[in-house]
This record gives sequence, structure tokens and C-alpha cells, in this order.
Amino acid sequence: MTYTPAENRYERMTYNRCGKSGLKLPAISLGLWHNFGNDTPHSTKQAICRRAFDLGITHFDLANNYGPPAGSAEEAFGEILKTDFCGYRDELIISSKAGYNMWPGPYGEWGSRKYLIASCDQSLKRMGLDYVDIFYSHRFDPDTPLEETCGALDHIVRSGRAQYVGISSYNSKRTREAYEILKSLGTPLLIHQPSYSMINRWIEEDGLIDTLEELGVGSIVFSPLAQGMLTSKYLNGIPEGTRATQDKSLDPGFLNERNLENIRGLNKIAEKRGQTLAQMALSWVLRGGHITTALIGASKPSQVEDCVKAIETPDFTTEELAEIDVFAKD
Ligand code: NDP
Repeated sequence: MTYTPAENRYERMTYNRCGKSGLKLPAISLGLWHNFGNDTPHSTKQAICRRAFDLGITHFDLANNYGPPAGSAEEAFGEILKTDFCGYRDELIISSKAGYNMWPGPYGEWGSRKYLIASCDQSLKRMGLDYVDIFYSHRFDPDTPLEETCGALDHIVRSGRAQYVGISSYNSKRTREAYEILKSLGTPLLIHQPSYSMINRWIEEDGLIDTLEELGVGSIVFSPLAQGMLTSKYLNGIPEGTRATQDKSLDPGFLNERNLENIRGLNKIAEKRGQTLAQMALSWVLRGGHITTALIGASKPSQVEDCVKAIETPDFTTEELAEIDVFAKD
């Protein structure tokens, strides 16, 4: 069926400025890491993307290796761009990344100029795009000079393959270095993509949040629901069809009694606040305006709907934040 985006799609979503740039991103963004490979029906992928766009989610995050198999998420999204989002390219922020293993041999991963530029070209081809809005170095490469990785990112922008650049999972020290190199090249670092959730607080300890604020770099935090653990779905066991039952990245071992006790504690606080645990987990990463956008994943459109409601919920009181801290542990 032909898709026409909801007319009121910009009425409810909040758009936050990405660092000190001119770009605004939706408070909730959608990632295509899981549920967009060949193991998921195309109609499901299409329904998730349509629902997201209808709700004001303008930012779709991909990477070369998303699938399975690697590359298939970008192909599926390319198809959706053609059939559904055709005519709306200028309303979308599409990102891709390179850093993890993508093809055999010494040039298929990490941070060399050879790999990053070739991978960006492959991603553009798979999605049928002339350019991506954001292109990332997916992980810091300890064996490649950062000048080379950043030089490749700068080239990707100057050659028209991307509008902006980002880095993912770099610590605070490496982030400062990348920021300075990119600044000297004239291609500012737009955004950082680290993991962050109520049960994964490394960016607080590392000082990354403060670093990004100081530098004026935006932030998009991945797995804010801890891959589904910060929802009510695992409170009473592991339901069939969830990520923890599939051969994906969520090790059921994480759902141990200690973690479940904390999750149950957090769920009670969410209930008192009148929101779902997923909504509270998203409101929490966005609290105080330090984070530009929370990057969720979804296996069905109803999850996107539930998550987007997080932006409508009230701010946390000091007492609530203290109560959450009792359970919000790594
Ligand atoms: P989340 O923490 O949001 O987990 C998503 C999963 O949570 C869904 O697949 C679903 O699980 C469950 N879920 C989502 N919403 C709800 C809801 N409202 N109620 C109940 N369950 C819900 O994020 P992801 O781990 O999927 O990561 C998000 C994105 O971040 C990725 O797609 C990718 O773009 C990016 N990412 C980046 C990385 C990097 O290195 N830069 C690494 C990892 C991710 P189920 O499938 O069981 O239904």
C-alpha cells in the first residue's frame, strides 16, 4: 500500500540542537542494528520505519555491518527510501558507520583511510543514496594514527559523501584528540555515539558527558533500554521472540537475579510516575538536557509508539533521581 506520512508528524516530537551545530535531532531516534536483517519480514521493517516517521522521528541510524547478513539493513532501508520515503529525503537524517569487520582481509575493518572511504561508498550504494547526513568512525583504532582516521572523515565530507561526521564509543581522551584534529581540518566533530542507560553509566565516570558539553559536540546514546532489559518484558521470565531468546547480542546471563532486582526496583518507580519502564529509561538518559537524542531499537511499531511518549512525561524530582540511583547500577 502506498504510504503517505502523517500530516501532524512534527507536532509532538521535540527536536534538540546537536551540540553547537546548526542541526537539530529528534529526542528519540531509531536505529536499525537488529530487526532489519534478512531474518525479519520486510513488511515489519517498513511498518516500524513508517510509524517512526509518522511520530516525528527524522533520524535513522545505520552501519555497514547491520543485518544479518552484514549490509542487509542498509539494503532494506534503501528499499524503504525508494518505496516509502521517496520525496522526503530532505526531511531525514540518515547515518552510517564503519569500524567493525565488514569484508575479509586487512582492509575490511578498523580505521584506515582505505577502509573508511571504501565502506562509505558501499553503504551509499546499498542505500541508493548520494550522501549520508552523518558518517561515523564506529570505533577507535589503536593501530591507525587518529590523524588518518579523521583525515578520511574530513575527505568523506569534502567529497560530498556525508554532511557531518561523528565518532562512536571513543573515550573522553580520544574524543578530545579527534575533536582537535577535525577542527584543524575544518570539519567539526558533530556528534558522539556512546552507549548509555540506567544500567550502563560509563560515560558519567569517564567524564565524556562533560567533555562533549565543553566542546559543544552533540550526543546520541545507543541502547538506552539496555537492549530491552529496561522494559517490563523480562520481569517474570524470558518471553519467546524477544532479543534474549535469539542468537543476538543480549546474553540471557545479563538477566540474573541481581540485575532483575534492580530492574524491578526501577519498574516500581516508573509505575509511581505513571509511565512505562521503557519511557522512564528514555526520560532518564535525556534528563537535564545533556544528551541530544536517545537512539532506540524496535521489533514492532507499538514499541516505537511507547518510547516516543517518553518525551511527554514530567521532569524528575531530586527525590526520584536519588531513588533511581539506588537501582541504576552497572
Ligand atoms: P535499545 O536499548 O532501545 O533496545 C531495543 C530493544 O528493546 C528492541 O529490539 C526491543 O526488544 C526492546 N524494546 C524497545 N522498545 C520497547 C518498548 N517500548 N517496550 C518493550 N520493549 C521494547 O537499543 P538497541 O540495543 O537496539 O540499540 C539501538 C540502536 O543503537 C541500534 O539500532 C544502533 O543503531 C545503535 N547501536 C550502536 C552501537 C555502536 O557501536 N555505535 C552499538 C549498538 C547499537 P525485542 O527485540 O526483544 O522486542
